[in-house]
Amino acid sequence: MKLSVRTLALAALFALAVPSMAAENLWRISVAAPDPVTLDRLIDTDVNILDCHPHLGSVKAAATQDEAVRLQLQGFKVTYLNPIPDTKNWARFFEHVPANYRTTYYNADQILAHFEALRVQYPSFVTRAQIGTSILNEPIWVYRVGRPLKIGGTPENSIIVLGLQHAREWVTGSIVMHVGTMAAQTLATPQAVPFMLNQALYIVPITNPDGYRFTWTNNRLWRKNRRNNGNNTFGVDLNRNWAKGWGGSGSSGNTNSETYRGTAAFSEPETRALRDFSNGLPRVGGFLDIHSYSQLVMWPWGYSTTTPPKNDYLRTGGQRMEVEMDKFGANYTSGQIATLLYVASGCSVDWVFDIRQSACYTYEMRDEGQFGFELPPSQIAVSQDEGWAGVKELLKYAGP
Ligand SMILES: [Zn+2]
Repeated sequence: MKLSVRTLALAALFALAVPSMAAENLWRISVAAPDPVTLDRLIDTDVNILDCHPHLGSVKAAATQDEAVRLQLQGFKVTYLNPIPDTKNWARFFEHVPANYRTTYYNADQILAHFEALRVQYPSFVTRAQIGTSILNEPIWVYRVGRPLKIGGTPENSIIVLGLQHAREWVTGSIVMHVGTMAAQTLATPQAVPFMLNQALYIVPITNPDGYRFTWTNNRLWRKNRRNNGNNTFGVDLNRNWAKGWGGSGSSGNTNSETYRGTAAFSEPETRALRDFSNGLPRVGGFLDIHSYSQLVMWPWGYSTTTPPKNDYLRTGGQRMEVEMDKFGANYTSGQIATLLYVASGCSVDWVFDIRQSACYTYEMRDEGQFGFELPPSQIAVSQDEGWAGVKELLKYAGP
């Protein structure tokens, strides 16, 4: 008798608990966006869009069943793809994996420790500077990898590389670690390496430190920074906060949106730090903002489909990098952001190109959507190889 009461009670508990738990579970969904109006309307919702640059056709998103139903009630056509496993507390998942940046994702402290180790190992080639602080007062670091600066003569050619501007694009942090490592090793070899002569990489490993930490502790799929917008919503999409074309299509004024552009161009301390740092360099011959996923090599403009100045120069460089990156078994595609995908306003690459008119690019690394941001650790190393192949080509192409 006692047992059956307990069984009944358990059954009752389950009947209550299971549906509500299921309702909280995240699903990967696909939302039809057949025309620009529908796409803009979707971008303005608070749905967690998984595409780095949402584009016409269909848009992948992470949503609870409640959120998916709400979208359907708003007239969107929703297809359920697959459930997303619980991604809270990733830190625990990696706790017992021996640290190796080629096979394991590194958290913020580990990424910075990796660069600090490079600085100790290659003191004449690797230096660092703090260029600002995030909205939650986290330092933003840049690592310079190059021969010691000479005073006088032609200013060195600076190539800026950004990782983790979008917090959930974890593989980009792994890639910039490898780029820094390979560049330092290359400089340390006795054979002179022409593409590193009078030229230096300026790597910002974690452009969005607060957002990145948040993906390890609270929400694996967080994209924006962690500004408190004051209305119970958080975050500005840093890659919609730059001044060129700010406020235009492909960005949102809704604070809840994944592509919320902020209250003004450069309203965020993270983008301001990058702006001021870039403005302080005499010569920025190249710029690369690394994102994931979609396997794309792209150049300006993002804010407009009009052809950019020096279009042939941008296209040739982009295609050359694509050829190098294709050597590892994945198929990359290259093109202008706005024509290849969809208009995205307020991006970093547009702003730097507008000022410097140099070799400015953005990558979307692996994969094509099978795993998306949660790229399995088994694909870290090959993504790093692709990233370094691209950057090496950029150094040759944009070199002095
Ligand atoms: Zn991104």
